[in-house]
Amino acid sequence: MGVDAAVVKAHVRDIPDYPEPGIMFRDITPLLAAPDVFSGAVDALAAPFEREQIDKVVGIEARGFILAAPIALALGAGFVPVRKPGKLPWDTHAHSYELEYGTDTLEVHRDALSADDRVLIVDDVLATGGTALAASDLAEKLGAQVLGISVFIELGALGGRSRLGARATHAVLML
Ligand code: AMP
Repeated sequence: MGVDAAVVKAHVRDIPDYPEPGIMFRDITPLLAAPDVFSGAVDALAAPFEREQIDKVVGIEARGFILAAPIALALGAGFVPVRKPGKLPWDTHAHSYELEYGTDTLEVHRDALSADDRVLIVDDVLATGGTALAASDLAEKLGAQVLGISVFIELGALGGRSRLGARATHAVLML
C-alpha cells in the first residue's frame, strides 16, 4: 500500500463499550479526515481487484458508502448502494439475515445490478461476516457475479471470513 500499515492503524480510533457494553468500536473518522491516509487506504482496498474487470462496487450503508465510492472510481466501475429497509426509493430486492439476537434486512434496487455484472462488495469492518454475506447474496440473487469482498478492517477472532465461502476476501488491517 502507498502508506504504511502502522500509520493507517494509528488513524483508527478504538472506542470501548460502543454502541453497547463489550463492543470495541473501530472508528475510522480520523482516517477519513487525513487525505493522504484515506487515499492510501482506498488504494489498498482496490489494488487486489484492479485486474478483475469489476463493473460495480457495492457499498454497504453507511460507512461502506464512504469507502466504496472512491474505490468504484479507482476501478472505473459504477457504485451501487445496499441500504437498510425503506431507504431506497425505487423497486427493491430484500434479504434478511440472522444476527446474534434477532434478524436484520438489507435492500438493493432491483435494476442496480444485471446478470453477469462483475461485483466487488465493500464495507469498513468485517466482524461475524453476516452483513457482507447478505450483500453478496443480494448481488447474486440479481444474477451478478461476486468477484470479491474488500474490507478495511477484519476482526479475525470473529471468523467472518469463513462464512464468505470461496469469495476472495481482502482486508487492509487485521485486528
Ligand atoms: P458483521 O455483520 O458482524 O460482520 O458486522 C459488520 C457490520 O457491522 C459492518 O457494516 C460494520 O460497519 C459493523 N461493525 C461490526 N462490528 C464493528 C466494530 N467493532 N466497529 C465498527 N463497526 C462494526
